[in-house]
Amino acid sequence: MAEKLVRVKKSRTIPLEIPLISLRDTVIFPDMIFPLFVGREKSVRALEEATLQERMVVLVAQREAKIEKPEPGDIYQIGTVAKIMQILKLPDGTIKALIEGISRIKVVEYLRVEPYFKVRIKELIEPREEGLEIEALKRTVTNQFEQCVKFGKPIAPDAFVSAINIEDSGRLADLIAFHLNLKIEERQAILEAIQPAERLRKISAFLSRELEILEIEGRIQSEVRKEVEKTQKEFFLRKQMEVIQKELGEQDEQTMEVNEFKEKIEKAQMPEEAKEKALKEVERLAKMPPAAAEAVVVRTYLDWLVTVPWAKKTEDNLDIKVAAQVLDEDHYDLKKVKERVLEYLAVRQLTEKMKSPILCFMGPPGVGKTSLGKSIARALGRKFVRVSLGGIRDEAEIRGHRRTYIGALPGRVIQGMRDAGTINPVFMLDEIDKIGVDFRGDPSAALLEMLDPEQNNNFSDHYLDVSYDLSKVLFITTANILDPVPPALKDRLEVIHLPGYIEEEKLKIAEKFLVPKQLEGHGLKGEQLKFSEEGLRRIIKEYTREAGVRNMEREIASVCRKVARKIVEGEKKTTQIVPADLHDYLGPVKFYYGMAEEKDQVGVATGLYWSEVGGDILSVETTMMEGKGKLTLTGQLGDVMKESAQAALSYIRSRADKLDIEKKTFEKYDLHVHVPEGAIPKDGPSAGITIASSLISVLTNKKVRRDIAMTGEITLRGRVLPVGGVKEKVLSAHRAGIKTVVMPKKNEKDLEEIPEDVKKELKFIFVEHMDEVLKEVFVNKRGGGKKAGKGKKIVHSP
Ligand code: ADP
Repeated sequence: MAEKLVRVKKSRTIPLEIPLISLRDTVIFPDMIFPLFVGREKSVRALEEATLQERMVVLVAQREAKIEKPEPGDIYQIGTVAKIMQILKLPDGTIKALIEGISRIKVVEYLRVEPYFKVRIKELIEPREEGLEIEALKRTVTNQFEQCVKFGKPIAPDAFVSAINIEDSGRLADLIAFHLNLKIEERQAILEAIQPAERLRKISAFLSRELEILEIEGRIQSEVRKEVEKTQKEFFLRKQMEVIQKELGEQDEQTMEVNEFKEKIEKAQMPEEAKEKALKEVERLAKMPPAAAEAVVVRTYLDWLVTVPWAKKTEDNLDIKVAAQVLDEDHYDLKKVKERVLEYLAVRQLTEKMKSPILCFMGPPGVGKTSLGKSIARALGRKFVRVSLGGIRDEAEIRGHRRTYIGALPGRVIQGMRDAGTINPVFMLDEIDKIGVDFRGDPSAALLEMLDPEQNNNFSDHYLDVSYDLSKVLFITTANILDPVPPALKDRLEVIHLPGYIEEEKLKIAEKFLVPKQLEGHGLKGEQLKFSEEGLRRIIKEYTREAGVRNMEREIASVCRKVARKIVEGEKKTTQIVPADLHDYLGPVKFYYGMAEEKDQVGVATGLYWSEVGGDILSVETTMMEGKGKLTLTGQLGDVMKESAQAALSYIRSRADKLDIEKKTFEKYDLHVHVPEGAIPKDGPSAGITIASSLISVLTNKKVRRDIAMTGEITLRGRVLPVGGVKEKVLSAHRAGIKTVVMPKKNEKDLEEIPEDVKKELKFIFVEHMDEVLKEVFVNKRGGGKKAGKGKKIVHSP
């Protein structure tokens, strides 16, 4: 094959038809010397062929490196012709050739493709460019390259030296392209840029990108370095400190804390399960950095585990006599209650296993429920804790929140146990009638579990996460009224009523307990302040109206405060409180006693009602005016009370004849029933006979006796049904100066618990039918009994 030779620069000639080697991972530039490793069969053949000729090959990059056997189409068109300077056969059959790039060429045509590529080429002549722009580009590029080297780009040191010494701008670009590790396409782009200025611009762009990357890298590295240095320093210092502490026989804080916890866990005498859990948590804590958020959580948890009592208990006082004495010391009277408490204690001492009921003290505020609980604790020599359940709606309040919640805590039961510090306190659960049920779970279920002796040795609190034994606790509950207590819970309760006190009892309580207590509380001596009996009576009657004695205690305290001040100010040495002083000490009278109406009136009947704060009297007023037979009810009456008014009216209409009422009256007149103290909501059926009496009074124009009070539900047939809260009602009637109480026959048994003093002063009339009520309530029986009705003007109540 005849080959034409062409002379090129540097007085070299290159053949125009020449073997081609495709390069996978590099681009060769003119004037560079480069070791080439050749392994592919075709390339080896091409190299061999070249050595037989002018020892020249064309080197062109493949478009994609991964192609093992490229076709001409897979190979770029522009490459470099190179001189083979040395060839070395390696033992594995590959060849290492040292080559020197000579000049850019373009492949014009593939002459053969097998067994090696042979191509026709055309040399690409680089134009010589000079001028200011080229000079500026050269300087920029050299500068950038220098910067790269400064920023630590790994480049052979001589590369930079040769770069600054190169005159030829095209060569400069090639040299830099060769040393920067650019991607194949980028190198190829430089190779294909024939104009030196264009080549320099491209190189400049690559360099500035490179510089940016280097800068970011630098920043990251220095940050990392700083961080590493800091942790290393800390680590080093810590280690040093450890060694020093060891030398001195000291421990670091964390080890100290961990050891302390371990010690406390040992001391706490926890059951196995809890102990295991606690120790596991301690191990976890030991491995955590002390300031980690998780460590705080673990620490709090451990604190709870070690402070809740697990084994510590107080020894019970087993002497019932001593217990009785303590109860008497703290409370006046309450004989029945005290007896029941003593029996309960006695049984508990004989057998711990008996499924004993849970005591529930029921009664209005201030009757001594809480203080009885305290007194029981004192009698037994146990600790006392009290937890109010009022308003609890969420089961978690009783059982605690799981530890996964932020700020989780144990429930009130476990908190109470921690406050008690022993496993057998007297634990008072206040206001069990005030717990609610809603979507957050039923707190009363949790309550049942903790109260049930069968289950409560295994009480589970979500926070503690280990079962806790409540079986040694003496639970006492309190409630104002029993109705709202969930039935399942009610079943388990043994209810002890504390209905409230009469004036005599209050007086005794004040004299024997409240006054001495308040004097002591205010640092006063007995001779400095004395209350006369009449003074106390007035406080009871005119400054309080309550079933219990809480407000009275407050008023007494208030007097004590004022007297204490006078003594300190040197005004007085001794004070005796008589009724006349009360205005000065307590302000104007708050309640008018003898609440019962002053005069007998038509249309005004006195009833008795009862709520969670005790009993009281209420008057029902009815008036009649011309109209169309409408019944109006006012005074914040509940539905049940309104219905019972309707029932009363229907009963009266059906009995109009017998009652001497003209039938037409009901069509011509409107009736208005009002129950004063309109701001207080009232409900319940027990005002039935009172409303009926008031209606009949107005319809028949008969006066109702003011000294009579009544309670009872009425049916449409006029039967009188029993009602609740009899004790409270009777006491309040007595307080209000009523003389006769009319009540359902079925309630007669409830009088048993009423103090004799009260019973003596009241007359009781038990009735089964409204007729019997009517016999009693009107003045002079049928006195003034004019027939109401047509054409007659009726004189109404004031
Ligand atoms: P409750 O818990 O029923 O609302 P408290 O126990 O708080 O009532 O009683 C209020 C105050 O009245 C307490 O200071 C208590 O000592 C006193 N008290 C109540 N009943 C008696 C009583 N029978 N003897 C002596 N003090 C009493």
